[in-house]
Amino acid sequence: MQLYQNQTLKIYNSLTGEKELFKPVHEGHIGMYVCGPTVYSNVHLGNCRTFMSFDMVYRYIKHLDYKVRYIRNITDAGHLTDDGNVENDRFVKQSRLEKLEPMEVVQKYTVDFHRVLQLFNLLPPTIEPTATGHIIEQIEITQKLIETGFAYESNGSVYFDVLEYNKRGLNYGELSNRNIDELLANTRDLDGQDEKRNAADFALWKKASPAHIMRWTSPWGDGFPGWHLECTAMSTKYLGQNFDIHGGGMDLKFPHHECEIAQGKACNSHSPVNYWMHANMLTMNSQRMSKSTGNYILPMELFDGNNDFFEKPFHPSVVRFCFLQAHYRSILDISNEGMLASEKGYNRLMEAVSDLNKLNSANQSTIDIKGWQQSCYDAMNDDFNTPILIAQLFEAVRYINLIKEAKESLTTEDLDTLKTALNTFVFDILGLQDKNEASSNNDKLEGVINMLITMRNEARANKNWALSDEIRDKLNDLGILLKDGKDGTTFTL
Ligand code: AMP
Ligand code: ZN
Repeated sequence: MQLYQNQTLKIYNSLTGEKELFKPVHEGHIGMYVCGPTVYSNVHLGNCRTFMSFDMVYRYIKHLDYKVRYIRNITDAGHLTDDGNVENDRFVKQSRLEKLEPMEVVQKYTVDFHRVLQLFNLLPPTIEPTATGHIIEQIEITQKLIETGFAYESNGSVYFDVLEYNKRGLNYGELSNRNIDELLANTRDLDGQDEKRNAADFALWKKASPAHIMRWTSPWGDGFPGWHLECTAMSTKYLGQNFDIHGGGMDLKFPHHECEIAQGKACNSHSPVNYWMHANMLTMNSQRMSKSTGNYILPMELFDGNNDFFEKPFHPSVVRFCFLQAHYRSILDISNEGMLASEKGYNRLMEAVSDLNKLNSANQSTIDIKGWQQSCYDAMNDDFNTPILIAQLFEAVRYINLIKEAKESLTTEDLDTLKTALNTFVFDILGLQDKNEASSNNDKLEGVINMLITMRNEARANKNWALSDEIRDKLNDLGILLKDGKDGTTFTL
């Protein structure tokens, strides 16, 4: 019996605006695609919140025993700045600024992205494809769309014909609830407008000017792919023409996801995704966190306290706890007070988790632990309601304290259920880490290294150079460097 057979998961589907009973395309399997970062700069905390929301979703569906294929791409080409001007390709612009090759920019910020996500304890996706690794697939889809009359070439670029799409009874704007007349009236006069049949048409392929360094050959001349097409190419390749869950931040609903739906329906005659999930924004000073407005904090600045906004540094797990205290579909305004309160709550929870191991069982239970456990599942089954789940976890904290004071009791079996469930929800599903445990492990490591330094000093005093060199070299192999100075030996990790 798999866990998902006992639990009724409901997901809010942005396409229908309703919480729907979740039913995967293939029983027991889930295909999930989440739009990844555009790696032309460091990820900010807002980006991290969205990726963390989907990490929590991934952790929970895995916990329910689904076999999950989770794709989160790396956008390393084609994402233009908001004005749509080809000369403002984000990667080309940044590579000029930093005097780097565009692919060096991509590598630098991909490494940063992975490092930050690891500190936040996000699980890696099962496949992490790059847009530049899927140019052939993007050209193939573009060709198919031209052949079927959904797209047209114009001056070396290829555009998706939105009016043609609607003429055939398909419904451009269904995700973002926009109608075509409104779209035509509101589209600004942007780059490439004179090449398009209609202002609402969007680029599948863009012609590269002679100076444009990120370029690929195509049937339409040298160019590069449009951003919306990348995700269609990668999701179709790894998850098929119709898959379960597609996620991303709320700001990607339009035009990015709207265009993905149009591309998918035009190519395969049916909607590509069954459940569209959109994570809400992180704000600071009530403004959306964003690189372009300067209203942002980098995760590292929060972890090391090197910023003007927070009065102290915060551990990544405390930040994670703070983010998950809000529902993924609610806006979260980050603040110093909010972080301090989250830190208190986090500490209280971790204390109770460690106290739990010291509790004794009794002959009878005075608490309905199975009922409590199901209420944790109920919270998560209700569109991943982490704030309600966390409230339930604090209910468990209350039980633990009452048992400690001998005011309530649990049998061995119920105590085991409480331990397993609390650990599962706190560590496996919410993905929190015990920061004290991590720092106590660091203390232990330092203790061991200092012990080896003392042994090496003794060896040196006994003129046992072979042993003293061996200790230094073996530590060196592990990346631990010893440095002999006036005041003794120090080390760097
Ligand atoms: P980008 O690298 O700009 O494509 O963004 C990566 C992800 O971060 C996307 O899913 C965005 O929707 C999301 N995102 C951007 N800004 C914020 C924010 N302030 N709060 C939450 N998510 C955001
Ligand atoms: Zn995408």
